Amino acid sequence: MPADHAVMWFRRDLRLGDNPALLAACEADAVLPLFVLDPALWGPAGVSRRSHLTAALRALDASLRTHDARLALVHGDPVERVVAAAREVGATAVHVSADFNPYGAARDERVAAALAGHGIELVRTGSPYAVPPGTVRKADDSAYAVFTPFSRAWADHGWDAPAPAPTRLRGLALQDTVDVPGVDLPEGLRLPDAGEEAAAQRWAAYVADHLDEYAEGRDRPDLDATSKMSVHLKWGEIHPRTMLADLGRSAGRGRTTYRTELAWREFYADVLHRRPDSARHYLRPEYGQMAYEAPGEAFEAWCAGRTGFPIVDAGMRQLRGAGWMHNRLRMITASFLVKDLHVEWQHGARHFLRWLVDGDLASNNHGWQWTAGSGTDASPFFRVFNPTSQGRKFDPQGAYVRRWVPELRDLPDGADVHDPAPEHRTAVGYPAPVVDHKAERVEALDRWEAIRR
Ligand code: FAD
Repeated sequence: MPADHAVMWFRRDLRLGDNPALLAACEADAVLPLFVLDPALWGPAGVSRRSHLTAALRALDASLRTHDARLALVHGDPVERVVAAAREVGATAVHVSADFNPYGAARDERVAAALAGHGIELVRTGSPYAVPPGTVRKADDSAYAVFTPFSRAWADHGWDAPAPAPTRLRGLALQDTVDVPGVDLPEGLRLPDAGEEAAAQRWAAYVADHLDEYAEGRDRPDLDATSKMSVHLKWGEIHPRTMLADLGRSAGRGRTTYRTELAWREFYADVLHRRPDSARHYLRPEYGQMAYEAPGEAFEAWCAGRTGFPIVDAGMRQLRGAGWMHNRLRMITASFLVKDLHVEWQHGARHFLRWLVDGDLASNNHGWQWTAGSGTDASPFFRVFNPTSQGRKFDPQGAYVRRWVPELRDLPDGADVHDPAPEHRTAVGYPAPVVDHKAERVEALDRWEAIRR
């Protein structure tokens, strides 16, 4: 009997452990581990994500080498490259974890059709989620539009136990592959370690040292209280199933709160799957009728972290300095753009995706829509964040602001780091506020009233 060959096409599942698609591929006699650098995704990715991806690919290759395999990296349109690779190694099947993003799902349809033309099957096993998008439904089979009932039904549905790592992986190789590209980071940008091992270490340390205080600390950007697992989840260096299994073994409020946050990730993926148009357009179309400003100088100041609102500027500088921003800051800075500067959320979402190392279409764009009032389960539009009081509440000693806005470290004793006096701003070269928050709050509510009428 001829040997049975398969391709494992890695995408957002850059790990060997708890990877059911890889296990399915390993049932063949030999497997080609493949990654396709797709210009359609690489082009808009931004330096943070490119850099993390390349580091994760090197780590995956290193793990594969501990078996009898190497990662084959090719560049180009996946429809051509996956078919060519599968034919070259004589594969009968190409294995993937299902992709539910609008681009990925459409791409996979095209790849499946092209493979079928050569008698090769695209086999989807598992997904980047504990429960695949589209699975959790109401009794009448409709989708949940609101988070809390979704999260209850999601927990009731449950998930599989983590899958074991493959014990046998005999690798196949391609004739022509490319090297993992180098990515130059701009000065000042420092990113977290990438790869399955880094993810496992970060998670184990977090569970041991911080999980118990998660519920109390998660809103405080001045404390190192959140897990920073978003980047590892984004690239599938760990599967949420593995994390949920660990959470199931510990007790307390930290564990329950953390599980709810993972449910938000799954909820947004479910919403995007149901409404692919919501990646770019208002989930609640009436918000598209509101009067907005074109992005101008104030938008540039927001991007650069020079709005003159210390907490907003600290968040925007953290984004560019760490490729990551604390969740509270994502909400504060997003609210500021939409409700103080009256700029549409899509401009901010694009800027975030350009810099975030964990940039994820579903979580980012629905996080933006939530803040802009146009999303699912939206925070009511009339609740406009006051950036100064948010700063005082969540960064009470000003440590977070001082860390990311270094000029404010030099304020004289007694100065208010969340609202420095004009003479103190001038003395340290920090800008005056670009807008009057009180006036813009009224303006935002007027614009909102206009679409309600
Ligand atoms: P933790 O507090 O440790 O949370 C654990 C995990 O739960 C996270 O890693 C994440 O997977 C999930 N999670 C937590 N909060 C949310 C949430 N509100 N929505 C969805 N999942 C959540 N998250 C991304 O992963 N990618 C993005 O591009 C992204 N963009 C955002 C944009 C805006 C405007 C907002 C308001 C939120 C966004 N989030 C995004 C959600 C959240 O801010 C991040 O997941 C979180 O800050 C990541 O840090 P962490 O891993 O330390 O989180």
